[in-house]
Amino acid sequence: MKPKIWLSSPHMGGNEEQFVKEAFETNWIAPLGPNVNGFEQDLELFLNHDCHVAALSSGTAGLHLALVLLGVKAGDEVICQSMTFSATANPITYVGATPVFVDSEKDTWNISPTLLEAAIKDRIAKGKKPKAIIPVHLYGMPAKMEEITAVARHYQIPVIEDAAEALGSSINGQKCGSFGDIGVLSFNGNKIITTSGGGALVSHSSALVKDARFLATQARDEAPHYQHSRIGYNYRMSNLCAGVGRGQMLILAKRIEQRRSIYEQYHNHLAGKKGIEFVDEPSGYFSNRWLTTILVDENEAGFTREDLRLALEKENIESRPLWKPMHMQPVFEEYPFYGDGTAEQLFRDGLCLPSGSNLSNDDMAQIFAVIDTLLK
Ligand SMILES: *Cc1c(COP(=O)(O)O)cnc(C)c1O
Repeated sequence: MKPKIWLSSPHMGGNEEQFVKEAFETNWIAPLGPNVNGFEQDLELFLNHDCHVAALSSGTAGLHLALVLLGVKAGDEVICQSMTFSATANPITYVGATPVFVDSEKDTWNISPTLLEAAIKDRIAKGKKPKAIIPVHLYGMPAKMEEITAVARHYQIPVIEDAAEALGSSINGQKCGSFGDIGVLSFNGNKIITTSGGGALVSHSSALVKDARFLATQARDEAPHYQHSRIGYNYRMSNLCAGVGRGQMLILAKRIEQRRSIYEQYHNHLAGKKGIEFVDEPSGYFSNRWLTTILVDENEAGFTREDLRLALEKENIESRPLWKPMHMQPVFEEYPFYGDGTAEQLFRDGLCLPSGSNLSNDDMAQIFAVIDTLLK
């Protein structure tokens, strides 16, 4: 069997070990420490736009804290993009709130601003104004933030921006993660850069980020003894993981370039092939192209996305259907959904192709060889 070609695997730059070594040498093995501060500063500089950052144990922890910080409580409703990974929606249930799912639009595959407004109006008519809106930048493609924030502002509902897949993506130069009232990043092993496991909470409000750090370290009041007046969490990033993160920040720009080059290679190879469709960047939009995704129209192409996935699997090449929408998941089926069938069609026809920045030319040739047998 040939070595496996992964969808997206960790890709170290070479300087990560030095930061981790320093942590060992200075015995900063505990959570927090100079690497955590350094990593937060690196992220603040990169995101720009007057962002403050708290490094956390995961993106999921960031989403949970965001809901807590916005005061979302049991019985509240939170609007969530349906087409996403379950980590976007799960934290809504951690605070006892109800997710209300909204479909995608076709340009970016992210939450439809039109359906978003329809959902808000209907929820208000039914007696409950949603307490937050969670759009997602799927596969690195920015959601239509201008339209989404306009709707959110009109109804005065805060936005939690799930930018877990979109570090380095931007709209007219403004970085994803900096649009929402709160933004969330992930550094899980499969993301564009990784800390092995980790995440971050982003906000323009330094007071809010200070509060996030407080809640993430068990909400310890200032006192010589352990004193608590709020419920806390153990959600901070460790100083060792942050060391990996500092090393990864040195090569983030390169990783974005590499992921975009992989997308270009697929795009060039498949250009003009019947029944294969890519998602283009709308004008002013810049995607980090975390994963290259295609839609396969069975009638035009003569094969399905599942035919392609199985053909790749046979050659030990990993590919994956797009996220199965949350409103189709057994665990979320009972919750309200506002849609027009877009996410369902994306799930039916969509495939994520191997997109790691560490793919070699030989790997790409192997992948193209399999695709070509189906294209004929
Ligand atoms: C990865 C991911 C998350 C969760 O991040 P973790 O760090 O794995 O907890 C949340 N939302 C989306 C869209 C993701 O892809």
